Parts: sequence; structure tokens; C-alpha cells
Amino acid sequence: MGHTPSPVAPSLESLGLSIDRPLVLVDVDEVLGLFMQGFGDFLAGHGLEFRIDRFALFQNIYRPGAAEHLDLESGRELFDEFFRTHCHEIEPAPGAIPALNRLADRAEILILSNAPAQAERLRAQWLKRHGLAHPLILNTGPKGPIAAGLVGQTPHPTAFVDDLLPNLDSVAEHSPATATFQHVADERLRPLAPRSERHPRIDDWAALAEAIEAAIRR
Ligand SMILES: [Mg+2]
Repeated sequence: MGHTPSPVAPSLESLGLSIDRPLVLVDVDEVLGLFMQGFGDFLAGHGLEFRIDRFALFQNIYRPGAAEHLDLESGRELFDEFFRTHCHEIEPAPGAIPALNRLADRAEILILSNAPAQAERLRAQWLKRHGLAHPLILNTGPKGPIAAGLVGQTPHPTAFVDDLLPNLDSVAEHSPATATFQHVADERLRPLAPRSERHPRIDDWAALAEAIEAAIRR
């Protein structure tokens, strides 16, 4: 395995963000947007089934009626194609838009999404179309290193929202002062998604926004 350089976080100022207010880092897929539903629709357009019966991605793609999932390499190619051409078609997560707008009254919002680089234009377009024109950073790998570089620039309280425990754990490890919250937008995924006592799990966006507000008020 090669050496993985630690990501260099851009300055908040260069992103148009103020360091005079709290900072909230928010994920997109399964937090602001219904990725699984959108990816499932995209796969259906390719004559494939997306079976949400476990918390997985490529292992859930099947040819109709097949007992074995599609090979992982083909799954990965479809995933990349989805982000290159269709990621602007996903539905916003229920309640996410008003909740984020409310949070934006009290905090700087930065969208931190693990998506292929080719997704940048369509993802930014999607955010803008739904009134969420906040700066967007596309990341790969665990989010802790870049999150630490970002939150380290502000003296104010910070919070981080994601659906995936590896990202939440990574941020908690690299930036212990940042309040972490887990949100799983897709109702079918909720019973399957692993949770942890380290991160409050709040699947209702209105309640999540309240909890974030309380955390960044401290
Ligand atoms: Mg996500």
C-alpha cells in the first residue's frame, strides 16, 4: 500500500466562510439527499435491481431474479457513472432543506461529501437548485483529517453530521471537540445502519437541527 498524504484543508476564508460563527460540516448522501433511492432508480434504468436488505452498496446490486449480486467491479463502474451523470437527480431528504436553512442563521455551513471528483459540478448544481448553495468539498477516505484541518481554523464550536460510523469515528478521533451526529435519511436503511453510543443518532431533521443548535451554542 502506498503512502496516503493527509489532505490539505482549504482555508475557510477562501471558501467564503466566516470564522466568526460556529461551523457545521454536513454530508450529502443519506443526510441531505436520498442517495440509495436515487441510485436504485438509476440502476433500474439499467435493468438492475437494488435490494436494500443489508447495509452495503455494491453487494446489493442484482440482475432481476438473480441470487448472486453483480460483481463488485461492475458495481463500482455503475457507481462512478451515477455520480458522473445522475447525482443531481436525487431527492432531498425529508425536512433537510428547512432544517439546514434554519441552522444557516446561526452557523457557517460547509458540505463535506465523499463522492468521486467527477460529481463536483452536478452535486454543486443540486445543492444550489435546492437552496443549499453552501461551499462544497469532495473528499475521499475517512473524513477526520480534512475535518480537523477545517474546524481547526475557527475558535467557535463545530459540529459534523454523517450517516456512516467510520466517518463519524474518524472525525471524533481527529477533532474531539467537534460534536458528531449520525443521521440516516432512507427509512429502509434505518433499521440496517449500525449505530454507536459515541454519536447521537437523530433521523428526524427538525430534531437534528435542534440538537446541533444546542451543541454549537455551548
Ligand atoms: Mg453519506
